[in-house]
Amino acid sequence: MSPPMSQTPSGRHPMTGNLMTDEAAVEGHGFEEHEYDVVVVGAGGAGLRAAIAANDAGARTAIVCKSLLGKAHTVMAEGGIAAAMGNVYADDNWQVHFRDTMRGGKMLNNWRMAQLHAQEAPERVLELEEWGALFDRTGDGLISQRDFGGHRFARLAHVGDRTGLEMIRTLQQRAVALGIDVFMECTITEVFKDSGRVSGAFGYWRDTGRFIVFKTPSVVLATGGIGKSYQITSNSWEYTGDGHALALRTGASLINMEFVQFHPTGMVWPPSVRGILVTESVRGDGGVLRNSEGNRFMFDYIPEYFKAETADTEDEADRWYDDKTNNRRPPELLPRDEVARAINTEIKADRGSPHGGVFLDIASRRDAEFIQRRLPSMYHQFKELADVDITAEPMEIGPTCHYVMGGVEVDADTGASRVEGLYAAGEVAGGMHGSNRLGGNSLSDLLVFGRRAGLNAAYYAERSRARRPKFTDAQVKAASVDAVAPFSAEGEENPYTIQHDLQDIMQRLVGIIRKSEELAESLVEIRALKERAKNLAVEGNRQYNPGWHLALDLANMLVVSECIAKAALERQESRGGHTRDDFPGPDPMWGGLNLVLTLAGDDQVELKHQPLPVLPDELQRLFEAQQ
Ligand SMILES: Cc1cc2nc3c(=O)[nH]c(=O)nc-3n(C[C@H](O)[C@H](O)[C@H](O)COP(=O)(O)OP(=O)(O)OC[C@H]3O[C@@H](n4cnc5c(N)ncnc54)[C@H](O)[C@@H]3O)c2cc1C
Repeated sequence: MSPPMSQTPSGRHPMTGNLMTDEAAVEGHGFEEHEYDVVVVGAGGAGLRAAIAANDAGARTAIVCKSLLGKAHTVMAEGGIAAAMGNVYADDNWQVHFRDTMRGGKMLNNWRMAQLHAQEAPERVLELEEWGALFDRTGDGLISQRDFGGHRFARLAHVGDRTGLEMIRTLQQRAVALGIDVFMECTITEVFKDSGRVSGAFGYWRDTGRFIVFKTPSVVLATGGIGKSYQITSNSWEYTGDGHALALRTGASLINMEFVQFHPTGMVWPPSVRGILVTESVRGDGGVLRNSEGNRFMFDYIPEYFKAETADTEDEADRWYDDKTNNRRPPELLPRDEVARAINTEIKADRGSPHGGVFLDIASRRDAEFIQRRLPSMYHQFKELADVDITAEPMEIGPTCHYVMGGVEVDADTGASRVEGLYAAGEVAGGMHGSNRLGGNSLSDLLVFGRRAGLNAAYYAERSRARRPKFTDAQVKAASVDAVAPFSAEGEENPYTIQHDLQDIMQRLVGIIRKSEELAESLVEIRALKERAKNLAVEGNRQYNPGWHLALDLANMLVVSECIAKAALERQESRGGHTRDDFPGPDPMWGGLNLVLTLAGDDQVELKHQPLPVLPDELQRLFEAQQ
């Protein structure tokens, strides 16, 4: 049977073509069923790159995604793809990129992932170009590279401030041209196992609510992040932590979940657009941060760790934009965790802007033609959403939940999780970025590790050909009963109310600055929400029913939020995207530890300490040589 690019299918019996009744679907006899070697869950950069790699390795591959193809979160990426191509600065190379990434992550990164990422990113960017991506060029025709925080050299390959769109367009066209099957607007709710090995995946079509089952030995999770657990976020509706939760329920582990990146610059006004991202490129291209007194306050927040490489006067900082040879960068381009904390402090000290942010000013520093050419989306975003002309006046901005460093614990080389047949890549995977991600390092991460996960999932499928795992009718029936449970619940809880309450808890108690008492309180409150969620009831039927979709997503958001809060309470230090008011500095003891989360019976989150893999001497020397 040929599945579906255009996706209205579903609801039809695969053999007879007859429309299935709800009862038939729930009874488990009329399921739409498909068989593949590799099923990739997610069609962002990581999922598409994984699917292309799996297909190239000879695996029958499907992509399943809960939104339309081309609509994944990756499309929103603005600034660029970090890769040490050396096009703008010949001195750039993988060793410098590796070192920047590790320092940005405060040395908590999985060093092997950071190494592979830095080594392979340039090749992956060139490959995108070969497949049709049109990057901005330097004067001599090479791929242009822009500055971003924490990167020693300008190294982000970009297409204006619409890089994600070009990346998705290119990968999507390639995947479609290769004939990879795509199931879009289809949500996966469960991964099946047979004797500890992945045997399939279960989901539903969002339009009809009908169930669908994939028989497969390899599942690649590429589902992105968790931002919808917070009130103020740059993330889209899709970021409900599905892949994180699927991994936990399948028996895999999560690491680094306490590290959530609050991007320093999200819109703050009007309320309807609060949280929408203002790209770091604005600062990379000369924008500066000021408080209500007009002070360029970032000079007051340069941490000891970055003093040697950060300009400490306005003159020196401004000279850097024209002559970057001195390498002392403006403090606005410190890593995101540093800038977000500084903004937060200014706002709390009553030096904020009228709507609770601070000012980001590029208007007084660059002419209108430059701004419109380099930052066209930002220009339109502010003009249309906030009636602000960024070529003439400053923007009001404030921190917004943007990215989760934590995710599925994977083998660096293969993307394999602890569960045989289960792989993860992209934002849903943990380890690569340590405690804080540098801007631009996500898009390159998607390409490098998407490819690796896809390839290895395909190799595994091939190895398992003689002994394919199977799922049972009982597993399918149980998954469908769980999925429709909210329709028959007696309770009166509304999914939107629970989501609202969860976002409030996470924003208030597990936000940028954290405290022991508040984190402990958040855990009590999240567990109370989990209890309330048992009484969730939804009305209507399964045909396009957003309330039902949210009810299913909520279970994921709740367990992932619990993981974040639990790990944040445990880690008694401040590092990267985890700032503790009661433990303000980094602590070497915690700097050697990962916190690993698993799920025990009865939906209990368990946490263990795990020593970090030791950095080999030859990589350690890179830090000594370049201090
Ligand atoms: C506004 C913005 C700008 C950014 N700019 C940059 C930048 O310039 N450079 C950079 O490096 N990073 C940037 N980032 C971060 C980067 O875009 C993301 O980290 C990255 O795109 C994540 O890609 P992904 O492939 O992991 O997930 P996504 O692109 O989010 O794809 C996830 C996919 O999983 C699917 N999915 C989720 N759950 C399910 C389920 N249960 N069943 C089926 N499908 C499911 C979704 O439908 C989607 O197709 C930016 C982020 C934002 C929000």
